Amino acid sequence: MPTVLDFDELDVLASTLYRETENLPAEERKKRICDELEDILLYCYVFGINRVHESAELTEEERAKYQPSGEAIYDTLYMPVDGEDFRQRVSRRIDEGTLGEYELQRIVETDGHRVSETGAYETAELVSYETGMQFEKVWETMRDPRVRDTHDYLQSMRVGLDEFFVTYNGNKTKFPGEFGIAEEDCNCRCWCEYQPKKK
Ligand SMILES: [Zn+2]
Repeated sequence: MPTVLDFDELDVLASTLYRETENLPAEERKKRICDELEDILLYCYVFGINRVHESAELTEEERAKYQPSGEAIYDTLYMPVDGEDFRQRVSRRIDEGTLGEYELQRIVETDGHRVSETGAYETAELVSYETGMQFEKVWETMRDPRVRDTHDYLQSMRVGLDEFFVTYNGNKTKFPGEFGIAEEDCNCRCWCEYQPKKK
């Protein structure tokens, strides 16, 4: 089971969606793109849940039991970033005529990443709360030249589940994609590993 979202796959999904809807009337296009985006983001959230279930080595029964509620999941999907949720962002760009293929890819990657990392964090919190299992978080990067310096600095940093990762410039977050600062979050591909603490 991979620990990292397949960003190339997300790019392909975004491109296909872009091309398939390119000639639709604006309102129809908004609906098609946003409905499909919702499915993609849901997939990303579930990816995050599964990652934590896997590292906590839960049984099938426990996995079924320790899932964030549908409400929590949709709150995450529709969390506004810079004042807009993904539907508002896509709709505005279509109205303005500024939704290019690249922009759609960036929305899918950035939101997909945020949702997947939030899903993992919320699942770890839930499992910890329900079972008493203690987790540590470890920051991981893709370890390639595209990793920004502030995240390279966080590579392999280990903190408690509820603690913050703090970069050298003082920005802090509980997990990747959650700084709330575009220059830290946009196109970030880092992820958190949730390791059960050895007793
Ligand atoms: Zn990053």
